[in-house]
Amino acid sequence: MILLLEDDPAIADTVAFALRREGFEVEHRAWLAEAREQLHRAPPPQLLILDIGLPDGHGLDLCRELRAGPLRHLPVIVLSARSDEMDRVLGLELGADDYLAKPFSPRELVARVRALLRRAQAAPPAAPGFVVDGTRVLLDGVALNLTKLELGLLTHLLRAPRRIHSRDALLDAVWGSSAESTDRTVDTHIKTLRAKLREAAPARDPIKTHRGLGYSLEP
Ligand code: CA
Repeated sequence: MILLLEDDPAIADTVAFALRREGFEVEHRAWLAEAREQLHRAPPPQLLILDIGLPDGHGLDLCRELRAGPLRHLPVIVLSARSDEMDRVLGLELGADDYLAKPFSPRELVARVRALLRRAQAAPPAAPGFVVDGTRVLLDGVALNLTKLELGLLTHLLRAPRRIHSRDALLDAVWGSSAESTDRTVDTHIKTLRAKLREAAPARDPIKTHRGLGYSLEP
């Protein structure tokens, strides 16, 4: 899902239409407060499109907040009303990944969205210390003695390090649609997985809990 934060209804409609036509799911918000609320819900968006001038504040403030929190790796494209060099520099300094000045063509925006999502997906493999060898995982050279479900969880987290995975997403990915699994099932297996990782490499604690959001693997 792509979160679009834009208070100009005409621009928002055009952008949402262009993205949906390309198969993206879009949530549109016009207020910073609404976007903040959406960002605290799971699952987090894959990408944020952020207007700078908003009725209840400055879009770049949200950018700065994001970079200091659990969604710091969320790809962000900033939209600015003028081709103002200051906005561009500030946007990129505050952690935006890309920048577009209005007016822009929706097709250009869709191309940037695709490029950014591709980059975000291609970036991860940096999980130093982990080696996946068929159904075995080694951490710092030590083979981990994992159950099938722990292995499923760990390899899923390793596929996208630093990304926050909601409990629902982990349930879907590892357990499939078996009815008796709940959020607590995920927590229980994360707990035993953590203990095994700690045993193999006591100084590391690579699985991070993000309250209300889920888990990530921080190499
Ligand atoms: Ca605006």
